[in-house]
Amino acid sequence: MSNTDFILAIEDLTVSFDGFKAVDSLSMYIDKNELRVVIGPNGAGKTTVLDLICGKTKSTEGSIKFKNIEMTTLSEHEIVRAGVGRKFQTPSIYENLTVYQNLEVSYPVGRSVWGSLTFKRTSELSAQVRKIAAEVLLTEHLDLEAALLSHGQKQWLEIGMLLMQDPELLMLDEPVAGMSAKERDQTAELLNQICQNRSVLVIEHDMEFVKKIAHKVTVLHQGKILAEGSMEKVQANEKVIEVYLGH
Ligand code: ADP
Ligand code: MG
Repeated sequence: MSNTDFILAIEDLTVSFDGFKAVDSLSMYIDKNELRVVIGPNGAGKTTVLDLICGKTKSTEGSIKFKNIEMTTLSEHEIVRAGVGRKFQTPSIYENLTVYQNLEVSYPVGRSVWGSLTFKRTSELSAQVRKIAAEVLLTEHLDLEAALLSHGQKQWLEIGMLLMQDPELLMLDEPVAGMSAKERDQTAELLNQICQNRSVLVIEHDMEFVKKIAHKVTVLHQGKILAEGSMEKVQANEKVIEVYLGH
């Protein structure tokens, strides 16, 4: 395909594990500053799609273009450097460092071997840590050891750690699982802010939450798209009700 304005263009993407197609000729397009939610029954292939985009799993066929650059041939590391951040289901934070330190260590250091921080870079870093902490609702807890945060706050911290790298596409796998109702609402607000200047791809089951954040919803079933569009449109779709929402 020729160049497009999509931040992410997935075309005819297939991965087969011993002949089983977990993702089957999938095509999906995400706009700049779009917040897309992917829903679907367990085993639909949702997590595998994220694994393919971030390079953790290699595709069998098809193309993934991020800003018109082919990603399927790049390493995980190169994909991160290209601007794709991905959060896994379980948070991976440094429990015995403070919130501030967790954010600080996530700041991308230059590629040079002269890694020591200059004064200018130190103040730039501190400003960035404070800005991100505010975005993920942790300003009051900067000096707290991460181990002492609530489950929800740990999830936010990990989102913050990803934001320190300023990704143009942020991918989150079931971010509100295990959160309280209040934390879910706060996470919805936080994501609505975050997608003002980046694209976000979220996998989620909690439909109340999905309603609050989704610009568009993609419904996956058996590795294929069953339906796609606005929340209202998707919720009214009979096939979607039958395989997913009806349960
Ligand atoms: P979802 O996230 O929608 O619940 P997954 O993407 O985790 O679904 O899994 C889709 C299907 O692919 C499942 O049947 C799962 O067992 C299978 N699968 C996922 N990853 C692998 C793998 N690395 N090897 C073999 N099968 C896999
Ligand atoms: Mg999954």
